Amino acid sequence: MSTDSRTTNAQLFERAQRSIPGGVNSPVRAFRAVGGTPRFIARAEGAYMWDAEGTRYIDYIGSWGPMILGHGHPAVLDAVLSAAREGFSFGAPTEREVELAEAIIALVPSIEQVRLVSSGTEAGMSAIRLARGATGRSKIIKFEGCYHGHADALLVKAGSGLATFGHPTSAGVPPEVVQHTLVLEYNNIAQIEAAFAAHGAEIACVMIEPIAGNMNFVRAAVPFVKRIRELCDQHGALFIFDEVMTGFRVALGSAQSLYAQAIPGFTPDISVFGKVIGGGMPLAAFGTTRRIMEKLAPLGPVYQAGTLSGNPVATACGLATLKEIAKPGFYEALAVKTKALVAGFQAAADANGIPFCTDSQGGMFGFFFASELPQNYPQVMASHQQRFNRFFHGLLDRGVYLAPALYEAGFVSAAHTEADIAATVSAAHEVMAAEAAL
Ligand code: PMP
Repeated sequence: MSTDSRTTNAQLFERAQRSIPGGVNSPVRAFRAVGGTPRFIARAEGAYMWDAEGTRYIDYIGSWGPMILGHGHPAVLDAVLSAAREGFSFGAPTEREVELAEAIIALVPSIEQVRLVSSGTEAGMSAIRLARGATGRSKIIKFEGCYHGHADALLVKAGSGLATFGHPTSAGVPPEVVQHTLVLEYNNIAQIEAAFAAHGAEIACVMIEPIAGNMNFVRAAVPFVKRIRELCDQHGALFIFDEVMTGFRVALGSAQSLYAQAIPGFTPDISVFGKVIGGGMPLAAFGTTRRIMEKLAPLGPVYQAGTLSGNPVATACGLATLKEIAKPGFYEALAVKTKALVAGFQAAADANGIPFCTDSQGGMFGFFFASELPQNYPQVMASHQQRFNRFFHGLLDRGVYLAPALYEAGFVSAAHTEADIAATVSAAHEVMAAEAAL
């Protein structure tokens, strides 16, 4: 069933749709938001991916975040190959799991212990169970526009008013399962204050994406994070930072290190990681203080487990990745490139009189066809969808691969060169000019 060089993306998509629902194993890959045919990727190297037709793209998705070193980094590849030779999976503890746990603990001061799992969904779901188990409470608060994986209790949209609990956003999630999930507006201090005033003693945890990458790129404002921290402390709730996307992506100490600079003494209680810590292999983690982590089985009453958790090949990939990103100057260099990219996009829009704004941190970026940076989900969705879609396709046609939906963040890797950024910006100028001419 090999793919010969004449097979087109369209043929593969047609064939895929016969055996896989929608032709994809994760929905946003299907290009439903932007229209058109998804590219079937044949291989990737450095900052580039090639599709089944042999077309090369500069890749700004990086597998949705993990590929911070670019594809096939030699040191990571060597580590993975030699680990694979030693065995794929043992279902017994290994030294590399300990090394990876130690590496995460050394880089993130709020964490004394971690547990490794295989996906961000698992990590987020387990973090919530731990928070509920540790506090003996049921209610959780999340924010509209933040994604924490597809665990039932988290597939919720806001109810009709404040202090009413949410409605499932997926069929198959009974309303009773989300009855303890309160969904509030991101960056809205008054709402979270009112929620704690109404339910403070019942709230187990507040979960947030500190820079929300699942609604493009929206920062949690410092006063908002500070207020949540205070409310959690006053009411005995745990503050969960979902750093699946931001972890080791926006800074070596992750997003929490940025908030600690702005809010003296700040730490979240529980942190959730994924993506970069696995370097492209299925690996994620959650961690907090030893006191709370010891509530987990086998020591405590909160159950959590996984056949492939701490997989030896995945931990080799993650460790080799962390070693590279911990080198001095890594994030400074990455941020310079990311800033050059978004500044180039901005200049292309400005030159053509198109309302546009951007933001970035480390190797993560966002951009909006709107004149001001959105602060919450409704504002993100009010940005210009058609313009985004035309920009996406214009760049794709010119060999630049951005995330195929306006509510997704983008990622730059260490493998992107100045020339790659310049080529991308030059393509953006052409696309913006075409947009202005419409
Ligand atoms: N949390 C965040 C912030 C994410 O961005 C994602 C995935 N994009 C997840 C959790 C879920 O991770 P996974 O897809 O590995 O289950």
